[in-house]
Amino acid sequence: MIPLTPKYATMHSVISAWARCGLVDVKASEHRGNRASLLAFDHTLGGYALRLSERVFHGAISPPEIVDFHSHVPLHASFMTALQGFAWREQLLSRTQGRDPIAMGIRRHGLVEAETLRKCPTCVKEDQAKYGCAHWRIFHQWPVARHCVVHGDTLTSRCADCQAPCVRRNEPSLADDPCAVCGSTRLEIEHQDVPTGYWPLLQLLYRALQADAPEVSALVRAHPLLACRPAACSTASSSTRARVSLQKMLSDWNAASVDHLSCRLGAARVWTGDLGHRRSTDQCPLYVQAAALVAEAEPQPSCSESRRSWRIPPPAVGKGGYAATDEGVGPADFAFL
Ligand SMILES: [Zn+2]
Ligand SMILES: [Zn+2]
Repeated sequence: MIPLTPKYATMHSVISAWARCGLVDVKASEHRGNRASLLAFDHTLGGYALRLSERVFHGAISPPEIVDFHSHVPLHASFMTALQGFAWREQLLSRTQGRDPIAMGIRRHGLVEAETLRKCPTCVKEDQAKYGCAHWRIFHQWPVARHCVVHGDTLTSRCADCQAPCVRRNEPSLADDPCAVCGSTRLEIEHQDVPTGYWPLLQLLYRALQADAPEVSALVRAHPLLACRPAACSTASSSTRARVSLQKMLSDWNAASVDHLSCRLGAARVWTGDLGHRRSTDQCPLYVQAAALVAEAEPQPSCSESRRSWRIPPPAVGKGGYAATDEGVGPADFAFL
């Protein structure tokens, strides 16, 4: 019997469910190629959709379903122009394999998914009742996500008994599996305070994933803050409105600088520092674009107030291109503040 899978289950989760039903052998050479298993391939940005549909799912899941409902493509395409997003999707649907320069550019900006796997306790219970097993969700895996945007629950990422993190392996795994180390099924819930900008950002990203956030299209470059590079906001050429938005964005996230913020949101490198950098790192990472949009969408503080304090200290750049922070918060870290 073909397992039913929910919309926005990760491709790792869908393949795992098929493997558990005995419908696909992830270690079979025709699926794994020269990798350890079919699950060792990166399916997060719609890669191999055609091959998966034909050879693994035998047409039961179509390439558009894989790209639109089981990958992060709709989120990232929402931030492009409609034409760019359409062209990328068309390529993903027709290509059997090979390099994807757009996906490579996205990965250069940061993690598509956090290093630990996250799940929502309510999603797990609802899935078990509906599908007989629980699925990993795309929108739980964003580096910035600490909560389920549907239920509001804090996401869990480790075993409550042995503290082992949930991580992707080459073996099939589902969200209601017992701990791979000690076998416990208790999950640690880490309650934490979140910055003001957090919930509006998570909701915006979730709408973008559903292709329901037209305001994030690349046309938003008309927004003052995105029109200039945030690092250049202190120059005379940037508008007062951009400087006000910049200050609001940083205060919403308790961040000292844009680099500090991008690090917190999961961006892989400091992209604001070097004007002569190659183009791929010159663009603002998606999560920072989203934070800027959220800051600009909300009421602005008064200009006189902002003029006094918009100057922000330069970021301290640490080893490996990450912005060093007092707290030592890195992109893969689960703690916010
Ligand atoms: Zn949930
Ligand atoms: Zn454990």
